[in-house]
Amino acid sequence: MLNIRTASLVMKMKVIIVGAGFGGLSAAALLAKDGYQVKVIEKNEGPGGRASVYSDQGFHFDMGPSWYLMPDVYEHFYANFDKKPEDFFELDRLDPSYKIYFSQDEVVDVESELEKNYALFDTFEENGGEKLKEYLASAEKMYELSVKELLYKDYRTILDFLNGKMLMSGIRLNILENLEHFVDRKFESDEARKIVQYSIGFLGSSPKRTPSLYHIMSHIDLTMGVFYPQGGMRRVANSIYELAQSLGAEFIFNEPVEQIMVENGVATGVKTSNGTYEADLVLVNADYPFTEIELLDDKYQTYPATYWEKKVLAPSSMVAYVGIDREMENLVHHNLVLDKDWAEGFDTLFDPEKAAWPENPSYYVNIPSKTDRSAAPPGMDTLFLLIPLAPGLEDTEEHREKLYNYILDDLEAKTGENIRDHIVVERIFALNDFKDRYNAYKGTALGLSHTMRQTALFRPAHKSKKVKNLYYTGQYTHPGIGVPMTFISSEIVAKEINEEYGI
Ligand SMILES: Cc1cc2nc3c(=O)[nH]c(=O)nc-3n(C[C@H](O)[C@H](O)[C@H](O)COP(=O)(O)OP(=O)(O)OC[C@H]3O[C@@H](n4cnc5c(N)ncnc54)[C@H](O)[C@@H]3O)c2cc1C
Repeated sequence: MLNIRTASLVMKMKVIIVGAGFGGLSAAALLAKDGYQVKVIEKNEGPGGRASVYSDQGFHFDMGPSWYLMPDVYEHFYANFDKKPEDFFELDRLDPSYKIYFSQDEVVDVESELEKNYALFDTFEENGGEKLKEYLASAEKMYELSVKELLYKDYRTILDFLNGKMLMSGIRLNILENLEHFVDRKFESDEARKIVQYSIGFLGSSPKRTPSLYHIMSHIDLTMGVFYPQGGMRRVANSIYELAQSLGAEFIFNEPVEQIMVENGVATGVKTSNGTYEADLVLVNADYPFTEIELLDDKYQTYPATYWEKKVLAPSSMVAYVGIDREMENLVHHNLVLDKDWAEGFDTLFDPEKAAWPENPSYYVNIPSKTDRSAAPPGMDTLFLLIPLAPGLEDTEEHREKLYNYILDDLEAKTGENIRDHIVVERIFALNDFKDRYNAYKGTALGLSHTMRQTALFRPAHKSKKVKNLYYTGQYTHPGIGVPMTFISSEIVAKEINEEYGI
């Protein structure tokens, strides 16, 4: 006869999670904690997904995310396990938060102290500081409402959305005006406008196409601050991997899932390059379009190829990981070069008619070794150069080389420092790599852009409409792009699974 403990183990529901990005990792930890028997199957060699690691000759690069923003959401996530981020890694607030090159001669530091940023805005335009104060007060109010009313809730119908307090609270109004228009009403100078708009890039969007609700990004970046976890974002991914394992989740790496097996509208498991695995429930973290189009039969696709064709994708990018045998003197941990035509830059990313490899783009330089000496050998620096690109572009060696050379020339000119003669390691990662490594649709780095029509309930659903026990988590779903958002997505989906199958 089975004792009670054995009986409860036998009855455990088997969950297969496809993909070990932040979405898959966080869902694995949450569901394992709730008593499910969790197996995560990942195509690549380790955990982290877009937050993978590239190491060479003592240089360690976080391949994707590098900004630790919204520390409150990380805290909220770890609190599910009675833990704090500091139980896993040391967290430092960066100061300055970042450096911006508006031109060769106009270089400013955005500081962690708000008073200093008010003073900075006063140098851009009359009453700039006062205007920033008002802008941030509005962003803070909207952030608090969004966390309460928008981010952690799953809106399944338009009625859910409109019936909530959102209508009264004014969030709705902020969805009707675009960010560009909103910012143009608030600030006059190019510099101020760029500082409060650049962070929309984190959402894979452009100010013209994004609801002004997302001016919350300035609260996140300027008021809450920019942090760095010692050991990099890979340490954050590893912490959740370790947490999920400690709760009983199993992981299989280097094994791409090739099919989700479905019988009569019910998922029965997955087929991989190695064999088949049975499951009572399948939760997908791999890119949503790839999964629907490639892993499911046509009749089980909630969103077929024609759906994705019409969507506004977030940009792809070209990233150069460069290790140099000297330290950059004039750069800080995060650096933005925003001297080129702003509007035209967004057009080449989002307007299919104008999509092209850029001639002279804005770009981002991350040097984690400024804060984390374990990132590079002593006396050396780890440079991560990121240039956003339109998804779907043809990716050739010639394009890559031309753009890379442009960025190196430009950065050397701006900083007055030699980079080329000091390069020890060098790797370029662009559209084709996003496709090959992550099965990214059209090579997008970030998935679906946060346009007005791709926000909240207008994002692809967490639950399949065609397969009873098939769920999704990660950046394609609500609330969207960014590491903290994937934690929230997994919390939403774990709650939905518990409501339906709670054990
Ligand atoms: C260059 C770059 C910079 C970024 N910067 C920041 C930042 O500074 N801060 C921030 O918060 N966010 C940033 N982001 C966004 C953030 O990294 C993502 O939103 C987040 O990591 C997405 O996590 P995810 O779990 O949804 O997807 P992913 O990380 O892509 O995870 C999906 C997983 O599924 C796996 N998979 C795919 N196909 C299969 C298959 N057939 N079988 C098994 N497994 C499969 C993939 O290999 C991958 O591991 C950045 C992203 C990029 C690319």
